Amino acid sequence: MRKKIVAGNWKMNNNLSETINLINDLKIQIYKNNVKVMIAPAFTFLHDAVKQIDGFDIEVISQNINNNSSGAYTGEVSAEMLKSIGVNTTLIGHSERRAYYNEDDELLLNKLKYSIECGMNVIFCFGEELSDRKSQNHFTVVKNQLDNTVMKVDKSSWKKIILAYEPVWAIGTGETASAEQAQEMHEFVRKCISESFGEEISNNVSILYGGSVKPNNASEIFSKKDVDGGLIGGAALNASDFSKIVESNR
Ligand code: PEP
Repeated sequence: MRKKIVAGNWKMNNNLSETINLINDLKIQIYKNNVKVMIAPAFTFLHDAVKQIDGFDIEVISQNINNNSSGAYTGEVSAEMLKSIGVNTTLIGHSERRAYYNEDDELLLNKLKYSIECGMNVIFCFGEELSDRKSQNHFTVVKNQLDNTVMKVDKSSWKKIILAYEPVWAIGTGETASAEQAQEMHEFVRKCISESFGEEISNNVSILYGGSVKPNNASEIFSKKDVDGGLIGGAALNASDFSKIVESNR
């Protein structure tokens, strides 16, 4: 049985008090159901967030991770540091990291392998640009991104991997892929995984959709058979909107 997941990526938003307030609001508003809920506040506040969650069933995760254990990597954060404060899952490969910080497939594969070696779980993000979709190259681009990264890990790593298909043209733009476009890509990705790693792994990996998911479109997107939940940006900053999105994933 695949896990249903809704994860909120808070990006570079919220100071300490806003972080604590949003967590407190989520603790009141999130209705317990069979959905796994995750939130990714800024690095600075992860420890406070873990303490504030205080046993409530929301997992605090990180937005990024370094691919080295320790040393002279100014400004970076390691898996060991994250694990020491109770953070055991990280995003890797978000399109903003790829675009603004030049994170290429080779680096992302290193991050992925190292994180898993350290016992972290990974939400691995991928997705095509608008020009790729307009030129009908979206399947090829996605397949390449996957072939260069997650397809290079060993079979046993897959129990630590969650995938997030995030078409870049839909992130923060208010433009969402249609439920059919999401389903079509998720089905394609599952087929690619099945071809390389077999049906058991492809049937068990959760594939989230990300890109302008809001309370008014979440149910339709989540109703598709290969869409196991969402990675939510803007709408995750509002407790009421995020809670409604979580409830849509029943
Ligand atoms: C994201 O950044 O992962 C994302 C999906 O953002 P938004 O929901 O704002 O499009």
